[in-house]
Amino acid sequence: MDFASLNLCPPLLDALDEIGYVTPTPIQAQAIPELIKGKDMLGCAQTGTGKTAAFALPILDAMAEDPWSGPRRIRVLMLCPTRELASQINDNIENYARYLDIRSMVMFGGVSQRPQEKLLRRGVDILVATPGRLLDLISQGYVDLSYVQFLVLDEADRMLDMGFIRDIRKILAQIPKKRQSLLFSATMPHSIVELSRDMLYDPVSVSITPEATTVEAIKQSLMFVMKSDKRGLLTHIIKDERPEKVLVFSRTKHGCNRIVKQLGQDGIEALAIHGNKSQGAREKSLGRFRKGTLQVLVATDVASRGIDVSDISHVINLDLPNEPEVYVHRIGRTGRAGQGGIAIAFCDEGEGEYLRGIEELIRQDIPVDDNQPFHSEKALSRKGDKAPKKQQNQGRGRRQPRNHKSNSNRSNRKSNHQSNSGRNSGGRSSGRNSERNSGRNSQRSGRGRSRSQRKH
Ligand code: AMP
Repeated sequence: MDFASLNLCPPLLDALDEIGYVTPTPIQAQAIPELIKGKDMLGCAQTGTGKTAAFALPILDAMAEDPWSGPRRIRVLMLCPTRELASQINDNIENYARYLDIRSMVMFGGVSQRPQEKLLRRGVDILVATPGRLLDLISQGYVDLSYVQFLVLDEADRMLDMGFIRDIRKILAQIPKKRQSLLFSATMPHSIVELSRDMLYDPVSVSITPEATTVEAIKQSLMFVMKSDKRGLLTHIIKDERPEKVLVFSRTKHGCNRIVKQLGQDGIEALAIHGNKSQGAREKSLGRFRKGTLQVLVATDVASRGIDVSDISHVINLDLPNEPEVYVHRIGRTGRAGQGGIAIAFCDEGEGEYLRGIEELIRQDIPVDDNQPFHSEKALSRKGDKAPKKQQNQGRGRRQPRNHKSNSNRSNRKSNHQSNSGRNSGGRSSGRNSERNSGRNSQRSGRGRSRSQRKH
């Protein structure tokens, strides 16, 4: 399958050709045709699967087909949890829309709002924003969301984890009900399903399993090591294997800083990105990492969202995450869009329980590499043991109970599938929904007609 068979408009096809996208990724192949039809969508997929193009291309296509006359208005709102991800999405959109008369902008906090005000005054068609700054600028009267036709929530689970749910609901209240809405999330805890019920109308569900995308392409290994030896092992791997580009994960910001300091003492330059670093510092570190002048980047899970560096050779899990899905996210940083990569996980004497959860989730035992100088039989013997209480909530904000989250996710992860979810039909179909539907249908029938008349 190629992009032309997805019936995208020629300016988009030309841009994709130049960017070098030849074959749609599985999520693109599933999502684009449904979104072109105008359906709402509930997508279970993580960053790294090509989901940005999956949602951006059909929206750009619809906008190209239905050009706006008069002053530019925000017709598309994309909400996401972090500045990095927002910038990444906006960069992608600018890339895809290079031959279209469409203006997009990115909006996030932690930087002066002046440049953002200026861009808003000039007029934009697509706004990619994090919720906090958006609400600020709405309350100051700079943002008008009353023309929004397309709404995307990306990494919705992470936004909820970060406590954005009230902000999201306030923003939703400002957007017209007649719209096409898309919600993407790497996991499907109950809170996301609830939000999707309120936000989506008769959505199509698409789901890309981690196994089908990143996990298979990645060479994983597991090293049992005592907590006190992790530093030595990390230095050993970096000096011995000389990996080209390493992303090291730590559960906490403090842990990231400590690793950077310790590596420095061992003669290895590393930089950290996490929520306490300024935007400028994060961008600088990421820029060097991307260019290849920095070998080792140390990140927390939240900060790692939106790191779009396509050639990360190694991901090292210095701590195992206490939620199994996070492990899949982490290792997905290498092996992006089908390329291979190496993921190494350290497991110490207190992390045996987390390891068991991860192996259950990915439905495989991670191969053990005991051919390393710090191998610990003691840590190995603790596999499956309960984690010490102190460690269980480390580095996390509000979160769901672990079992609850894993179980609900598991049921959504069974296979690659695409189905019309009946969730919102029946008893829940309200007047509001039928109103939205009729609006959408009339809007779409026009789109559908001209689409079928296209020639490429
Ligand atoms: P995403 O999941 O949107 O963050 O995309 C992950 C990476 O895959 C990004 O670097 C994209 O530029 C790249 N990508 C997305 N779709 C394709 C495609 N069809 N072919 C090649 N690369 C792609």
